[in-house]
Amino acid sequence: MAASSSHVLPSYLDAQALGPWGIYLQQVDRVTPYLGSLARWVETLKRPKRALIVDVPIEMDDGRIAHFEGYRVQHNTSRGPGKGGVRYHQDVTLSEVMALAAWMSVKNAALNLPYGGAKGGIRVDPRQLSQPELERMTRRYTSEIGVIIGPSKDIPAPDVNTNAQIMSWMMDTYSMNEGSTATGVVTGKPVALGGSLGRTEATGRGVFVVACEAARDAGLAIEGARVVVQGFGNVGGTAARLFHDAGAKVIAVQDHTGTVHREGGLDISDLLAHVSRQGGVAGFAGGQALPNEELWGLQTEFLVPAALEGQLTSANADRVRARIVVEGANGPTTPEADDILADKGIIVVPDVLANAGGVTVSYFEWVQDFSSFFWSEEEINQRLERIMREAYASVSQTAKQHGVTLRTAAFIVACTRILQARQVRGLYP
Ligand code: NAD
Repeated sequence: MAASSSHVLPSYLDAQALGPWGIYLQQVDRVTPYLGSLARWVETLKRPKRALIVDVPIEMDDGRIAHFEGYRVQHNTSRGPGKGGVRYHQDVTLSEVMALAAWMSVKNAALNLPYGGAKGGIRVDPRQLSQPELERMTRRYTSEIGVIIGPSKDIPAPDVNTNAQIMSWMMDTYSMNEGSTATGVVTGKPVALGGSLGRTEATGRGVFVVACEAARDAGLAIEGARVVVQGFGNVGGTAARLFHDAGAKVIAVQDHTGTVHREGGLDISDLLAHVSRQGGVAGFAGGQALPNEELWGLQTEFLVPAALEGQLTSANADRVRARIVVEGANGPTTPEADDILADKGIIVVPDVLANAGGVTVSYFEWVQDFSSFFWSEEEINQRLERIMREAYASVSQTAKQHGVTLRTAAFIVACTRILQARQVRGLYP
């Protein structure tokens, strides 16, 4: 008989159940009542399958030997190989990487991608390293985690402070160790190295696609709708442009330099040009400056947090006057704010669904690398839209069926898929 929670002895993992990992465990507890007989397997979701801690020693440019701590966590591989990014940040911890890996399991299953969930990281401030030091650290880290990654085992990708160049070094190091070129070991590579067209825009495009689906459900037209966006980088900038091109009015944009507002709608092409010249939205002549905190209270149809985690909190959620919040960022809404928004009848399209366009095109990259046959950008965008729309439909249907929020519904859909796979695979031996 499978152990229930009460039969599980306190473990190292339980002692670590704080912060992001603790939040994740609470999320699993919240969906367990909806899992029916699959609840028997729910402990599977509450511990990572495998967590590797590696020492990453490198010689610095001045001759010193420095040691960095690296991690790779495979939370679940029931539905396919692990998949998730690598983060370089001085505050990365094992328990944070465990939570991020678990959320990748949920995101990949919610989108019905044939992947489990994984994540990696190194405790380092990469801005303190020279380019050759960054390369040596990346290569040694890749070599150390090489025992568990691979095109059919676990496929890393970029995350905070990692990029296409770092993916290229990872791919090269893994390939050198294997003795053959293995493009499919990482995604988010440059197009010259088997990367996919459409990857750069994919997350913002996915945000826009699910926003359109949610609008249709809510009886809202995109044309003429007001949109407020926090974060004007890869995700927020792309989403804002697509809203604008579809006839919506992006009335306010905030980034790390400030907030610009124009009730009649900002000219997004002009704003993008201004940001590429000036480094931020501040000083844009086509709108008025607004105190940052006032962004949250603007009357709008769509609010798109696409910058940082923890932006919508119990301190500002009751001021929100949006019809639909679409989470471009990871974790922008705290659990308390989530409850406040739900009480106000505001629809929240959760991060695990809304920002999954990036991992979906990463999946396309991996498939293209395997077949060595590459698709046009138009094909990529069409397939992306279809997958995002299907994912939204199954989450929205589950939300209606159980009378729960889209976030809880996304977890129900994802956890059900993962545990169904676990159940039919059975336990080995
Ligand atoms: P980015 O670095 O391209 O852009 C970040 C934006 O946020 C910039 O405009 C920056 O000015 C703004 N910002 C930073 N600090 C801010 C602050 N204090 N207040 C307001 N704005 C601030 O990053 P990105 O790739 O667009 O990622 C944004 C979010 O989306 C992150 O949470 C990321 O984890 C998430 N995400 C990104 C992808 C992807 O494919 N890029 C995929 C999934 C999730």
